[in-house]
Amino acid sequence: PDLRDLLLSRIRDVPDYPRPGVVFKDITPLLADPAAFGALIDALAALCARHGADKIVGLEARGFILAAPAAAKAEIGFVPIRKAGKLPGATLSQAYELEYGTAEIEVHPEAFAPGDRVLVIDDVLATGGTAEASLSLIRRAGAEVAGVAVLLELAFLDGRSRLTPALAGAPLEAL
Ligand code: 5GP
Repeated sequence: PDLRDLLLSRIRDVPDYPRPGVVFKDITPLLADPAAFGALIDALAALCARHGADKIVGLEARGFILAAPAAAKAEIGFVPIRKAGKLPGATLSQAYELEYGTAEIEVHPEAFAPGDRVLVIDDVLATGGTAEASLSLIRRAGAEVAGVAVLLELAFLDGRSRLTPALAGAPLEAL
């Protein structure tokens, strides 16, 4: 409860971004506060241990900011899942539906050892589409899903329901 209050107190509402009528959750005040950011990274690293993760995936771009230090702290490897066209080598790609149109994310197919348990980290779970696509990529690359961890879940969008089939029993943790 204390961690939750600290984290929530450092997230700012920005109305009408990126479109009129949307209230964007801005995490930059949290990143600028070493006590809050440090506590968040410690909590994410503890989730890695609790769920027996062998690797951490970060989702571009804000997921990288949280996932990379958590992986270093947990002493496990970090793997980026990027927007299409950004990774240098051969890639696996996964398209998914957005509110308007589609998006595509990619991973290097050799990023995981067979059977690696992977924890996916992102800043915000909104509709759940991005996280859902990431779980497909991880399984297609031969790894297992240890869980999904986010700083903030926008419960009114019910991404948790969309993600539940893809989780296949793995946990969704919202700090
Ligand atoms: P979803 O695919 O769940 O609809 O959208 C999640 C993705 O969009 C995440 O990668 C997240 O970074 C970004 N996102 C959506 N809404 C917000 C928001 O209000 N604040 C932040 N920081 N990111 C958001």
